[in-house]
Amino acid sequence: MYINGIPQSFMDLDLSSEKVLSIAEDLVIFKLCDNCLGRQFGKIGHEMTNEQRGRQIRQYLNIPKYESETCWLCKSLMSEIQKFSRIIMQSLKDYEYETFLVGSRISDNILEKEKKLWELTNFGEPIKHELNREIGKIIEKKTGKTVDFNQPDIVALIDTSFDIVTLDVRSLFIYGRYWKFIRGIPQTKWHCKKCHGIGCHYCDFTGKRFEISIEELIGKTLLEKSMGNAISLHGAGREDIDAKMLGNGRPFILEIKNPKNRFFSLINVENESNEYTKEKVKINNLRYASKEDIDKLKSAKWEKTYRVKISGEIDKRKLKEAVTALGNKIICQRTPNRVLHRRSDIERKRKITDIKIEEIMEKSAVLTIRADAGTYIKELIDGDDGRTTPSVTEIIGKQIETKKLDVIQIHDKG
Ligand SMILES: [Zn+2]
Ligand SMILES: [Zn+2]
Repeated sequence: MYINGIPQSFMDLDLSSEKVLSIAEDLVIFKLCDNCLGRQFGKIGHEMTNEQRGRQIRQYLNIPKYESETCWLCKSLMSEIQKFSRIIMQSLKDYEYETFLVGSRISDNILEKEKKLWELTNFGEPIKHELNREIGKIIEKKTGKTVDFNQPDIVALIDTSFDIVTLDVRSLFIYGRYWKFIRGIPQTKWHCKKCHGIGCHYCDFTGKRFEISIEELIGKTLLEKSMGNAISLHGAGREDIDAKMLGNGRPFILEIKNPKNRFFSLINVENESNEYTKEKVKINNLRYASKEDIDKLKSAKWEKTYRVKISGEIDKRKLKEAVTALGNKIICQRTPNRVLHRRSDIERKRKITDIKIEEIMEKSAVLTIRADAGTYIKELIDGDDGRTTPSVTEIIGKQIETKKLDVIQIHDKG
């Protein structure tokens, strides 16, 4: 659309417009190569490269062609596009990927010159954009992979001054469920409290407080298959170190950093991993997940059912009374003494949906308890010096302790 003879949008201009050609004439003194000349009008005209734009403008103005090697702006950079794509492909050759993105670092000298030209034209495109796009096109053609601006498997950043490539490889996220059949292993690696992971006499130079974790057990096979360099386990909550995880298993997402392989059979991983960890841990339901799935998993508030073996001066009648009093009730829990050193002291309300007696023996009993996410079960039993109220201990009137605790169901599917 024209208003008073002035185009209101770049769409209405073409390269032969008087406005374009008069700017181009001002640029002649810079002796730009076709790419750099055309790029100053990159917003004008569709379905053409900057090199084609430059050539057309030159023909309209009847001016000579300048090679990239002598170009005032890019100083041969534009003639090195093939070389840059070769270097990037070389650095990508050990990686599996479907999508990628090219980035580039260009010398300040060129960027400053570019700014100067932009004082003369409003239609320019940054040199970086052209370089990234043209390198991307070549790599797409040669590898059959696709440029992706949103979530590429790999971002390759080339420093054009030194011909060095830095890769940013997207983590691999694998969803699954895990079971833990033995007590005494934490969900994730705990650093030694003396050396904080460096390794010392206290931890036998392992840097760890526990010999092994679920994270390491599950991660081993996946790390080998993916050839990544680090793992991180994100669980939908966590059970205590001394609790088993049974029933329907606990959802998790394992993050593998810098994977070289990202397309492999998860069924094979599952079988191999379970073969390696059997008797300790089992996984199944593996599938590919995304980073966003971690937030969903972490914020999920699913009820859980526990089986708890308790001990103490248990009076049958009193225990029944406690179960009746606690079932379908809201309890108050202040942050337990045992975790106060790492969590702030707050009070929370949790619902005990259901509590049943499975078995009563002399001085011990087995309960099943279904409760809100985040309920401290040991404290529900022992009262935590009155910090949890009501509690089994409070109602019975004798100190009752947890002997064994297992998670037997996570109610994530209704
Ligand atoms: Zn140039
Ligand atoms: Zn240590």
